[in-house]
Amino acid sequence: MELFRLEDVSFAYGEELVLKNIDLTVEEGDFIGILGPNGSGKSTLLKVMSGLLHPDKGRVFLGDREVHRISPGERARIIGVVPQETYLDFPFMLEEVVAMGRYPHLGWWGTLRYKDMEYVEEALATTGLLELRQRSIHQLSGGERQRGIIARALAQNPRVLLLDEPVSNLDIKYQQGIFELLLKLNRQEGLTIILVSHDLNLASQYCQNLVLLDQGQLRAVGSAEEVLTPENIAKVYQVEVDVEKWSPLEKPRINLRPPPEENGSSKKIKPRRIHIVGGGGSAWRLSKRLNAMGHLLSLGAVNEGDTDSEGARELGIECIREVPFHPITEGKLKQTLELMLKADLVVVSEVPFGRGNIGNLKMALEALKKGKEVFVLDGENIANRDFTGGEASELWQEMKKKGARSVNPPELEQILKEGE
Ligand code: ADP
Repeated sequence: MELFRLEDVSFAYGEELVLKNIDLTVEEGDFIGILGPNGSGKSTLLKVMSGLLHPDKGRVFLGDREVHRISPGERARIIGVVPQETYLDFPFMLEEVVAMGRYPHLGWWGTLRYKDMEYVEEALATTGLLELRQRSIHQLSGGERQRGIIARALAQNPRVLLLDEPVSNLDIKYQQGIFELLLKLNRQEGLTIILVSHDLNLASQYCQNLVLLDQGQLRAVGSAEEVLTPENIAKVYQVEVDVEKWSPLEKPRINLRPPPEENGSSKKIKPRRIHIVGGGGSAWRLSKRLNAMGHLLSLGAVNEGDTDSEGARELGIECIREVPFHPITEGKLKQTLELMLKADLVVVSEVPFGRGNIGNLKMALEALKKGKEVFVLDGENIANRDFTGGEASELWQEMKKKGARSVNPPELEQILKEGE
């Protein structure tokens, strides 16, 4: 049965769009891991699901009702939340903290009844904390404390637990303890678990399904095999990994490869002139990386005020800039083509193309026709970022036909290294 359904959900903190067009369903009884780099929107996604934040666009359903239409009290009887940080200054006894989980169920007088104490008892027993119930929470280890916070959520008797990095401050033994506990609750009690994790291998080992976020968008959803591929990880985390099947559980395991520039050789990289077509921040990570490798970059054309324009300024990169909110003019495109022809190669990043900036794509095709080597990053399908009614997609296909090479950032770095 469907528990959560997110339909085209977008969310922004002020101007900063943090979740973009998320479509996701979670079935009752699922065990889901939400993965993604820092700042990719994982915590925000949890908060939107729990009803703490209201999406700017799209809808979040819990069962057959929109989550924000459910009263906070009723929500708390369905969803148990384990936040990233829990501040408890007062030296409560552990059992008092766990009993706080019963608040959403208490009647008018707010007193705990026998039934409530039974839930507290059970939550303490499930998390293995019965013997520590009289301890002050300040006298517990990190792992015990975290189990206590989970026990508090369990005492709510929820149908789903949302946990934000529940093991991030724990050592490996406690990490295992928490994940085993969650697995038991999922398998034996049928509790739905949705957790944010930084640890790809733990998530692979324990979660039934994974969700991979990349700058607020869903990059992949599915089983660990489907989501944890070297390609997805390269695109999202910008690192090269080997994925092996770990035999005891037949689950994928991720091993980091040494970064390309340290691949056993101390040889300095030969600097190249590289022109990058960017816009909207699509070129920022790549520019930073290639700049750090010592290549000589140029960028454009972009509008003044664009994230990539600011990024170029920060890195001291030559950049062709158009006035803000104005289509890129012929003059600027001509300068862009000149820079492309001066460069050793041209890289077109995953830019959304509209009427205003499609000229850049025409210039890249022109450079290609003149014999320039052109690389295109197309992790995000061109059709999804073509706002020109199909013209950008056609140019893209023509570029590929004429020899533009489709790569991801680590592949590009490797090619630059091999071509020394
Ligand atoms: P993650 O959990 O993947 O690290 P978050 O959802 O915490 O990502 O944050 C996504 C983006 O939103 C980040 O750029 C972060 O700086 C920003 N952000 C998070 N919380 C707030 C907030 N309360 N106000 C403004 N910006 C925020």
